[in-house]
Amino acid sequence: MPMSIAETIEHLRRRLPPQVGLVAVSKTHSVAAIMEAYRAGQRDFGESRPQELQQKAEALPRDIRWHFIGHLQRNKVKLVLPYAYLIHSAHSAPLLREIESAAQKQGATARCLLQLHVAQEEAKLGFAPDELPGYLQSGEPASLGHVQLCGLMAMATNTENAALVRGEFQLARRLHEQCKALAPNPTLFTQLSMGMSGDYPIAIEEGATLVRIGGLIFGSR
Ligand SMILES: *Cc1c(COP(=O)(O)O)cnc(C)c1O
Repeated sequence: MPMSIAETIEHLRRRLPPQVGLVAVSKTHSVAAIMEAYRAGQRDFGESRPQELQQKAEALPRDIRWHFIGHLQRNKVKLVLPYAYLIHSAHSAPLLREIESAAQKQGATARCLLQLHVAQEEAKLGFAPDELPGYLQSGEPASLGHVQLCGLMAMATNTENAALVRGEFQLARRLHEQCKALAPNPTLFTQLSMGMSGDYPIAIEEGATLVRIGGLIFGSR
């Protein structure tokens, strides 16, 4: 018998160190499945499509913290902002400028993680490792008054090669330390979001503070 959603949440919570937060990635899964996780005490959920996030956020309890983890297109920023507790996928300087402008218009503050590109996959987005310190030193991030930079998000290469994955998470961890010192507000730059169903144990060993787990909890479709 496979574990239920509630059982998996409880099982994971026992395995995660206390400093590591669990984002239950509910993209493509139903409101009923999310409610089952919610009743097991889960409050942080991850979505990757703006419209889907909006529909679920309107339908579900208000104390859910919604994490936007998908590819954020500039024309969808204003749709996502009212619902997102944390945007994990701020992948470029132009996107951050768009988030700033939308947040200013909405009178909001957007909490964001800078997405780092460490995987050996062209399709993945994010700042290149050697570009990020320069971006933070440029003064531009500090000028974004409605954006709070809260840390980094990284995705490892989708591979069975655990050594490669570990190396990518180690790089993310080192950059997180380096970027923290350069961030507009280092005391807010605390989150390192890395690790999914297939690689979260390695991510935790390498210093993740948030793991984003979907398939393991909700089953794959
Ligand atoms: C879908 C997704 C996840 C969850 O992946 P699983 O393998 O289902 O755990 C995590 N992070 C991002 C950015 C995703 O798009």
